[in-house]
Amino acid sequence: MRVTFHGVRGSVPAPGPQTSRYGGNTSCVEVRLSDGSTLALDAGTGLRELGKTLAREGRQSPVHLFLSHTHWDHVMGLPFFAPLYDKNNHLLVYPLANEAQERFQRNIFDDIHFPVSVHDIPSKVEFARPDGDVWQVGSARVRRIQLNHPGGAQGFRIDDDDGSSMAYLTDNEMNAARPIITVDELARFSDGVNLLIHDAQYVPADMPHKRGFGHSLVEDVLKLGEYARPKDLVLFHHDPDRSDDALDQIGLEAKTWLTEHAKDVGLLVAHEGLAVDLGKR
Ligand SMILES: [Zn+2]
Ligand SMILES: [Zn+2]
Repeated sequence: MRVTFHGVRGSVPAPGPQTSRYGGNTSCVEVRLSDGSTLALDAGTGLRELGKTLAREGRQSPVHLFLSHTHWDHVMGLPFFAPLYDKNNHLLVYPLANEAQERFQRNIFDDIHFPVSVHDIPSKVEFARPDGDVWQVGSARVRRIQLNHPGGAQGFRIDDDDGSSMAYLTDNEMNAARPIITVDELARFSDGVNLLIHDAQYVPADMPHKRGFGHSLVEDVLKLGEYARPKDLVLFHHDPDRSDDALDQIGLEAKTWLTEHAKDVGLLVAHEGLAVDLGKR
């Protein structure tokens, strides 16, 4: 499995000189399975870059789209996804976190939010309705879990036939006041994956003002890493106001903490263009 980050920012795109190294595009992660299948995790503005990559490659195999939820920062790139405008392409959209989000999804191409109507999209767009709790997608099995986030969100775990695995958990507030999922449950869900990607939007200075916003403190993400023992832990969904220099500092402190508490867990601070080849575990 190969994982490429096209958008790593949370809440709203944040372009500009202060964010140019980590990138200002919102959530989108590309996953290439061992059989060549392409999965897109979220459709933030980073999806535009993935679309350009696929168009350059001339790939016309289906793209499997998994949305954590339908907040703007996770769907805003969808109308600008180049493969949608090629009739030879095929997009498979997997179930959303809940019914309310399923309804919203169909409103993106409604002639009001974007000039192209759903009926005029040239590519084939299909809503996949897999049975059961474990979905077979190409050479991988995908499982989902509900997260602590206003309006609901879901995370995914992907286990490929080649033995590599990853978990994508955004947007999630660890230690929320009324949690629907606990840290222990998340650790079990993502136990031993090669790559654990988690929302790490906040630092202590953001609190208590941003409690209840549905995002996690970096320190809580590190504790999840200590329990779940991934090969690499990825800090993701950076605050739009977090500068490159601030993210450098967060990365340094996080590495120090892991060296002391879970030295077999590697640390990555997600940036646009970061690509990770996952070995077997
Ligand atoms: Zn978000
Ligand atoms: Zn959200």
